[in-house]
Amino acid sequence: MAPRTRVTAALRAQRFDAGSLALNLMATVGRRGSQRIERLPDTASLRSWCQTSRLDLDEDIDEAELLERLRHMREQAYTLTRALVRAEGVDERDLEAINAAARFPTPARLLVAAAGSVEFAPTRLSIDAVLSVIARDLAHVLGTPELRARLHECYAEECRLIFLAPVGREQRWCSKAQCGNRAKVAAHRARAARMHQDPPQPR
Ligand SMILES: [Zn+2]
Repeated sequence: MAPRTRVTAALRAQRFDAGSLALNLMATVGRRGSQRIERLPDTASLRSWCQTSRLDLDEDIDEAELLERLRHMREQAYTLTRALVRAEGVDERDLEAINAAARFPTPARLLVAAAGSVEFAPTRLSIDAVLSVIARDLAHVLGTPELRARLHECYAEECRLIFLAPVGREQRWCSKAQCGNRAKVAAHRARAARMHQDPPQPR
């Protein structure tokens, strides 16, 4: 069984390093292999996640409904992606759910001039448009063989986060700072405990 770890602020913090928008959404559940950590617990956390993800929401959007539907699609996306990463086949229902979300038309991304350069103009998204943008991102990652091949599940049993590994480089953990270091500390403790149990016998 995976060891239980104290849920620190660092573990509760939202992550934006999984490699794509849809993968970052899946990463709003931490420790899937242990005691799940919900990183979208309320509408305030939803607002900040959308803001960091550069998803501009309609001003009169129903945030509670968006949160519920986003969490629902997140699990379908995760189940589908994990099955592909583990080569366990595809559940057509999850596939159709993602396709259904992706079919909704999204507004074109337009440019505005800003400080002598350009930037994206805010595009106010409805609930269906938010889900569509994320579903299309997932379709892009899963449908592109080079990207699909770079998808990995974190080596840490309690984490199981799915991330896009860098090109041409093997990466065991979703984050060296989080899972990599924890694994090292755990291995060190296990070694120390073994030493303590079986002290070397004097000859
Ligand atoms: Zn991890």
